[in-house]
Amino acid sequence: MSTIEIVTSLAYLAAAVGFVVGLHLMNSPATARQGSRLSSIGMAIAVAATVARLADDGGITATGWAVLGGGTLLGGIVGLRSADTVKMTAIPQLVSIFNAVGGGAAALVAVADFVRIIGTHDPSFPSRIMVPTALDVIIGAITFTGSLLAAGKLQGWVPGQPLVFPGVRVVNAALVAVMLGGGGYLVAGSHSGWVLVGVVLASLGFGVTMVMPIGGADMPVVISLLNALTGTAVAMAGFVIDNTALIIAGALVGASGAILTKLMADAMNRSIANIVVGGFGTGDSAVSVTAVGGEVRQISVADAAIQLAYASKVIIVPGYGLAAAQAQHEVAQLATQLEQRGAEVSFAIHPVAGRMPGHMNVLLAEANVPYTSLKEMDEVNPEFPQADVALVIGANDVTNPAARRAGTAISGMPILDVDKARHVIVIKRSLGHGYAGIDNELYTDPNTEMLLADAKAGLGELIASVKSLDA
Ligand code: NDP
Repeated sequence: MSTIEIVTSLAYLAAAVGFVVGLHLMNSPATARQGSRLSSIGMAIAVAATVARLADDGGITATGWAVLGGGTLLGGIVGLRSADTVKMTAIPQLVSIFNAVGGGAAALVAVADFVRIIGTHDPSFPSRIMVPTALDVIIGAITFTGSLLAAGKLQGWVPGQPLVFPGVRVVNAALVAVMLGGGGYLVAGSHSGWVLVGVVLASLGFGVTMVMPIGGADMPVVISLLNALTGTAVAMAGFVIDNTALIIAGALVGASGAILTKLMADAMNRSIANIVVGGFGTGDSAVSVTAVGGEVRQISVADAAIQLAYASKVIIVPGYGLAAAQAQHEVAQLATQLEQRGAEVSFAIHPVAGRMPGHMNVLLAEANVPYTSLKEMDEVNPEFPQADVALVIGANDVTNPAARRAGTAISGMPILDVDKARHVIVIKRSLGHGYAGIDNELYTDPNTEMLLADAKAGLGELIASVKSLDA
């Protein structure tokens, strides 16, 4: 082993430690930034080590270096700018586009390797090289088109509802046959460029037909699944080019993406298979519906302000509507105002509130709400009976008592026990449905009063009204 190989191997080891420890630090919001920084340093070390190996190898021409440098610069600028300017509610789309780029890049690495192998006319390449190469092409290409379509659905460029066409199963079966049959043929030592083209096209097509029938509202789970696939494709690419750092980074992304997908599906009380089969949750409905089973009581801003101002314990329940309205600063301001009046204020965080894991944590952190005020569902649920007011802002499904009964779309999903509080005030624009598309029985509960308003505007008025009580 040459000195450069020893040094770069140690650098890859240091990078891997950075990834693992960084991921661990991301377990807690208090250390998450540090974790993200440490993982980025690990990646910078891995890139530097790879560049050093390439330079030492001397196989890259001046034009090659110019292309590599230009690509890195361009990709870096685009990545930095998009991450910097994207709205918090559009993060799932951005992640999906990043997945597409990762999967596509991994597939290209394998395609290039296949082209090289085909060029050698040597049918004796070992299966430890051929199998990961074929899997890399297939998984990477599926992730590329699947992720682009998922991002398009979330962004509204492609209709969000499940899209199915007659004979989709036959088409899917044919695509899988070409992918697996062609992949197997290549692994067995065939030197056909046409078979490679067929496998790539079938995989790209399967990415589209896999994501098409899934409803827009299920996209976050699908994106997490595609993220796991991207990681797997990248790990395979690591085997293809024999790069340890790529194998470790890909395996970590693949494993954490798979765990996250499972956690999200569990928190929605649905199986991953049920989500992938599709047809559920076609997006948010702003349609006003008549609430079932009782009368809906409305409350004025002035009355809501009085209830809040004289409460000694308030639990705020944020949901997707708070994120959609970008009302995080207003809710933080109201919480501070109530605390200054002597109330104990906490935020109840449901694991699937919003549209991505940790959505509410990120949103409230942006408004500098202290982590200590945020309480997870299991911790906060026993506190609702002692709360004078539960203030629900833009949350719907995660508070719906219908989840406790069998036979509803959310049956079995654990919910926040908001209805156990002495008074409940719900701020949202209408009696419209949330993600699951069903009526919320909380709205007809005798303890509940609705403040029908946009979250940002309603909170702004509440802040002014509570302030006027101080005067
Ligand atoms: P919901 O989707 O159940 O409800 C959100 C509510 O916000 C809507 O009913 C809407 O009512 C209201 N809203 C929208 N815009 C505004 C606004 N500008 N001001 C005030 N209110 C507004 O949200 P929850 O957070 O309660 O639940 C999340 C749902 O998403 C769950 O069903 C979960 O399973 C699902 N999900 C979550 C994922 C995650 O990772 N977090 C991933 C995939 C799905 P109105 O139109 O009347 O204002």
